[in-house]
Amino acid sequence: MPELPEVDTIARALRSGKGSAPLPGRRILRFTTTWPRHVDRPSITTFRRRIKGREIQSVERRAKYLVFPLDIGTLLIHLRMSGDLFMRPPGSDADDYVHSIFHLDNGWELRFSDARKFGRIYWTQDPEDVLGDLGPEPLDDAFTIEVLKQKLLAHRRQLKPLLLDQSFLAGMGNIYVDEALYRARIHPLRQSDSLKMPEIKRLWESIRTSLIEGIRHNGASIDWVYRGGDYQNHFLVYKQEGNPCGTCGTSIQRTVVGQRGTYYCPDCQRENKP
Ligand SMILES: [Zn+2]
Repeated sequence: MPELPEVDTIARALRSGKGSAPLPGRRILRFTTTWPRHVDRPSITTFRRRIKGREIQSVERRAKYLVFPLDIGTLLIHLRMSGDLFMRPPGSDADDYVHSIFHLDNGWELRFSDARKFGRIYWTQDPEDVLGDLGPEPLDDAFTIEVLKQKLLAHRRQLKPLLLDQSFLAGMGNIYVDEALYRARIHPLRQSDSLKMPEIKRLWESIRTSLIEGIRHNGASIDWVYRGGDYQNHFLVYKQEGNPCGTCGTSIQRTVVGQRGTYYCPDCQRENKP
């Protein structure tokens, strides 16, 4: 599943038009789909009417959402499990798994590829209708150590599921949560309100470092659909089961936390480590 760094990479590519054409400034002529359930809200009929002729003013990211402010209203896309968005020039052949297409005024197409069809598209007058329940953006200046501390203490939950909870902190998924906890040397099952200040500081730094490193490598290409960056070659712990820990040499272990495969070093990330 694309996480913050992967979605950020897609947003940057669409914005700059590197290797294709920039999306900002283009008008949407029409929307076609073979999977109408892609459109979450409003109804597909209203959706087509709302976006027809609208100008895409920029391409932004909030959590794992791509956000396209229009001259009237806002278009949002969540890629979910297997989604990808890319531009194709006029006359391009069809792509496998492209179910929804935005036809643009320069003849290009913004194509939404989505093999597993879990992705969702929204148009809204107020983006808070869709984004309102999200937690803070981990790379924002407003997300300070103090903010993280207050939030951790306000909950009594295991860290891994808590960090995956988008209303607690936005944008992280299975990869970057495991990487961040490993960097912070904290066990995935630690209770959020049991962390000491040095651990909170390490966790805050590790969350940001993991995401920044991911972005620097243009994200990870582990899903067979997503073909972006190469951060998968730099994972410290994710999918490294049986490999030696880079710090202590102990074999990385895999366990399951809340139905999610979870990778950690049993020595560096001890459950009862003070
Ligand atoms: Zn270790």
